[in-house]
Amino acid sequence: MSPIDRYNCEETFRRLDDFLDRHLSPEEIRLVQEHLDTCGQCASEYAFEESVLRNVRAKLQRIKAPDDLLSRVRQALERERGGGRPSGSR
Ligand SMILES: [Zn+2]
Repeated sequence: MSPIDRYNCEETFRRLDDFLDRHLSPEEIRLVQEHLDTCGQCASEYAFEESVLRNVRAKLQRIKAPDDLLSRVRQALERERGGGRPSGSR
């Protein structure tokens, strides 16, 4: 029996990045969290990704990157995500 109101490992993996970035809806966050609570494999994968992300952020803070740089990095990341915001003003 596999309850349909729960994510399987594939669904969770697919959303892990967005989950870390809090880009999911509250409902999706709940479902991912629920799966992480019950699946050791995904939980360790999540812990790994989170620690990587935390390391990067800690380094960025140590460098004291200017807000300008941070926001530019953020924008680049969002663009890479395939958001596809049409920015042809130039
Ligand atoms: Zn899993």
